[in-house]
Amino acid sequence: MTRFISARKILGGSASKADPWFGTSYTINLYRGCSHGCIYCDSRSKCYQIDDFDNIQIKQNAIDLLHQELRSKKARGTIGFGSMNDCYMPLEATHQLSRRALEIVRLHRFPVHIITKGTLVTRDIDLLQDISKIYAAVSITITTTSDQLGQKIEPNAPLVSERFAALQQLAEAGIYCGITLMPVIPFITDTEENIRQIVTKARQAGAKYIIGGFGMTLREGNREYFYKQLDRRFPGLKERFIQTFGDQYNCYTNRFKQLHNYFNSICRENDIATKMRFYKARIEKQGSLF
Ligand code: SF4
Repeated sequence: MTRFISARKILGGSASKADPWFGTSYTINLYRGCSHGCIYCDSRSKCYQIDDFDNIQIKQNAIDLLHQELRSKKARGTIGFGSMNDCYMPLEATHQLSRRALEIVRLHRFPVHIITKGTLVTRDIDLLQDISKIYAAVSITITTTSDQLGQKIEPNAPLVSERFAALQQLAEAGIYCGITLMPVIPFITDTEENIRQIVTKARQAGAKYIIGGFGMTLREGNREYFYKQLDRRFPGLKERFIQTFGDQYNCYTNRFKQLHNYFNSICRENDIATKMRFYKARIEKQGSLF
């Protein structure tokens, strides 16, 4: 069941500080909750206070707020879509908040970075091509190349093979794009074979970069959900997690160093960067870019 809500503010962050992974200064969440059902989702953590996470709340005044807030910004900084939910969940096809937000971003000439598992992002290639004249990057999250395993760990997200196809479409349209290989889940996806397959397919699809995160996080709220899903989908693994990580927040694979080195070397071989190119403010010529 979806609900409409009103937000007081739509942009978080500030231009003076950029995220070291993605170079984003601002964050935007047009919806509350997410329907992709990933078993490891950090946004379920209790500290975020999102009740009924699987039933999406739609911020009905998001577009007006974005217009107002961008108009008052003195400095440009990259706006990150997709920090607390996926901005291309299926309901975006009907409500189009992400598309309308990108139109506002284009109007105000802000740079943008999108993280998504939603293949619907290809619908907005026209807008992303325009915004690319400032800066646009799309990172598709892919944690395995197996559709079958993907459906176990990200049950309501598009199939992994469909995500690779979307990546290829973005690359062919000239959009700066790559993969967020995160999380790498201990005991499930932390193998050289998995890393190698993702890097190989990424190259075939035209990815420019892969950002790897060799572990996952667990805390109150997402831990309980994750364990419940492990019992359902990977019997016996919960006990191994408890024994290995206890109450730890950062749960790195015990093969962290080995996998990290392997990842770096195989990305080098495939000519794929392991860091993103960020937006750099520059003096723009007068007149409209679009
Ligand atoms: S797509 Fe992201 S926000 Fe949505 S359930 Fe998966 S991890 Fe959570």
